[in-house]
Amino acid sequence: MHFNHIGNAKVPSVSGRTLPVTDPATGQVYDEIQRSDIGDVDLATKAARQAYESVWLKISAAERGRLMMKLSQHISLHADELAAIEQRDCGKPTRQARADVTALARYFEYYAGACDKLHGETLPYLDGYSVHTWREPHGVTGHIIPWNYPMQIFGRSVGGALAAGNVCVIKPAEDGCLSLLRVAELATEAGFPAGVINIVTGYGHEVGKALAEHRGIDHISFTGSPTVGTLIQQAAAARHCPVTLELGGKSPQIVFADADLDAAIPAIVNAIVQNSGQTCSAGSRLLVEHGIYETLLERLGHVFENLRAGPPELDLDLGPLIRQSQLQRVWDFLSDAHVAGIPLVAQGKIVDEAPDTGYYQAPTLLRDVPPGHRLAQEEVFGPVLCAMPFQSEQDAIRLANGTAFGLVAGVWTRDGARQFRMARQLRCGQVFINNYGAAGGVELPFGGVKSSGHGREKGFEALLGFTVLKTVAFRHG
Ligand code: NAD
Repeated sequence: MHFNHIGNAKVPSVSGRTLPVTDPATGQVYDEIQRSDIGDVDLATKAARQAYESVWLKISAAERGRLMMKLSQHISLHADELAAIEQRDCGKPTRQARADVTALARYFEYYAGACDKLHGETLPYLDGYSVHTWREPHGVTGHIIPWNYPMQIFGRSVGGALAAGNVCVIKPAEDGCLSLLRVAELATEAGFPAGVINIVTGYGHEVGKALAEHRGIDHISFTGSPTVGTLIQQAAAARHCPVTLELGGKSPQIVFADADLDAAIPAIVNAIVQNSGQTCSAGSRLLVEHGIYETLLERLGHVFENLRAGPPELDLDLGPLIRQSQLQRVWDFLSDAHVAGIPLVAQGKIVDEAPDTGYYQAPTLLRDVPPGHRLAQEEVFGPVLCAMPFQSEQDAIRLANGTAFGLVAGVWTRDGARQFRMARQLRCGQVFINNYGAAGGVELPFGGVKSSGHGREKGFEALLGFTVLKTVAFRHG
């Protein structure tokens, strides 16, 4: 049984209710978490406010940085334990679970170093005045985190908020919260004062909604679906609370005929297979210049046929999806593809060791997907890559920008001028030229445009969003 983490203590839900924890690899229930609601958000928010006013505001930026660095080191020391927790909770293959712990430690290391480098400016103004801008924390920040990368998203969101001097109330996803409850304990051991990091678990429509609506929360950072993102923004708007929304994408990989296919192919495959395609920045659309369309699909087909999905501890190319409803969602998309006559190029295999009760999906490559079809427009959030040809650079831009989303794009070409033209015209938050994802890029600001959300996390830029700028004008004659 796992408890909420409030004021550095293990706290049962006020209602006494709990939720089962299911292993996605087997479909079996193996643990319990608290099913929190408004009462628990009240408790966590009060603990956070108390910590903010009585302790956290008084700690120097350098000391905050030292605490965060200590937590980063604690995370690294407990890497195997955290990876094992995440593997079972979220069905991640071993390499992915370990990579997530490494990224979490790195986020805290990066933001530890940033704490005492965040400052305002002195502005030239009228004679007799001195004007300063101060970067102040919001106060108590709320963080609603999805199940696909609990540790990474905690790192980028909570790491940035703490570095900027905020205290946090965190609502992880009901399907992926056990690693974060352990990280909160490690933070206590590292010396974080009670109330600085608080975690309340439970359903989104109960505890998540309560957090989004709570008047004690001064800023909300949400990562998840566009539908829930709209609800969060509406709830926040009612009390004029600032929000950062990261809502996923339908990100294109754009391959020109002059591309280095030996470099592009592994990156294209990884970008849709990683975490079983349950990645907001998954490269889920493949736009290919017509002259190499057949060649590239043939080469990719061979790779897809050899991909394997199976139990996380076998550390294959893919583990299970997070839950039955997510698997059903992918099946619905594939059945729509079948009905629409969209050709299937190749599919990987689910290994015999995978229990029938687990949520496994073989990676799938589809071709000639009509640009207006929902498979080319909506986030599948599973290992399904949709290929389509393009005729010209302008055609590629039109297709790439032709969805409601705008998170990430990959461009594969050796033509330097074209690289710049493409980067300029793509409507999204990140563009990768001859790579995809830049190996994670803790330092690189991340976020979307359009339905992919707004605001930036990661990098130093994120710190600006976790602060309020105050202008102070002194008239001294
Ligand atoms: P979701 O948006 O429902 O859940 C994300 C987080 O929001 C979870 O912590 C959840 O408990 C919480 N939440 C849910 N309803 C809420 C509400 N009414 N108020 C406040 N918080 C609420 O996502 P999901 O149902 O887990 O997945 C559905 C789809 O969302 C996926 O198929 C995928 O397309 C997308 N998604 C995107 C990301 C991403 O990284 N951008 C992550 C997860 C899911």
